[in-house]
Amino acid sequence: MDTLEAPQQAAPDWSQIDAEICCPRCGYNLRMLERPRCPECGLSYDWADILEEARWQSDFLFEHQWRKRPLRSYLATILLSLRPTRFWTRVSLHTRPHPRPIWLVFLSVQAWFLLVMYAIVYASTALATWSLRQWIPGRGYPPLAHELFLISNNVARFLDDYGVRVQPLLALWAALIVLVCLRQTLARCRVRGVHMLRIVAYSAAPLLFFWTLLTLMVGLAGGFTIKGARFQGQSALLAALLGCVVSLGIFISVGARRYARLPRPWLVGMVTAALSVLFGFTAVMLWRVGY
Ligand SMILES: [Zn+2]
Repeated sequence: MDTLEAPQQAAPDWSQIDAEICCPRCGYNLRMLERPRCPECGLSYDWADILEEARWQSDFLFEHQWRKRPLRSYLATILLSLRPTRFWTRVSLHTRPHPRPIWLVFLSVQAWFLLVMYAIVYASTALATWSLRQWIPGRGYPPLAHELFLISNNVARFLDDYGVRVQPLLALWAALIVLVCLRQTLARCRVRGVHMLRIVAYSAAPLLFFWTLLTLMVGLAGGFTIKGARFQGQSALLAALLGCVVSLGIFISVGARRYARLPRPWLVGMVTAALSVLFGFTAVMLWRVGY
């Protein structure tokens, strides 16, 4: 017996425990084990955490609170997920996952995103139309109305492109597929798919929020003439996509590191993001040329 071992690391009295006690990472049944280490995937843990996990519930997460406080927990989950580092300190592998509410958050965030994109396109089209009407007979357009038209028209045109709307959604779904396919090689053993779903689902809100701001800024910038050139078309889209790779990479890395506690989280995040955005880009390109 190792005398340096802390008292709480002694094996629990299994005869007193009714609940199913499983490894939070791979789901291996830990009943009757002596050492606080999963024999299947090698995860080390405290017995206290593992035992608590059986009844551990998050106090804010929609997954656990949707019956009691659906709206509040939904908003709290999405708002906190916008800050991934803080989010993953409050949601751990020990927080019991419930796939259906996770899917609901994942899908609804994408619906909100499309709604916001259409609202921005609608508003900027209305603004462009309004500024077109500022024509004064004999004097033409006032300079401000002319600028306003160029900017709002460019925002409307850039965001109305279905590539800009669909690209980040394709990237998210591709990231989920990539992570589920990679999960065999990420740790010493197969990581449960629901953890990958969680990482991607809770990365959706920050990614789509960032993408909305980014494409709005690129659209605004394209309305200005800088050194005789306009920042539009393919170069504008590529700049936005690069931003998408970096941000998605960061969000997945933070989840892989703080939540799944995987080795080499930055590599996992960046490779996944690069593959996923490339997949989305290729899919939109193929769609465009008519495959
Ligand atoms: Zn395990």
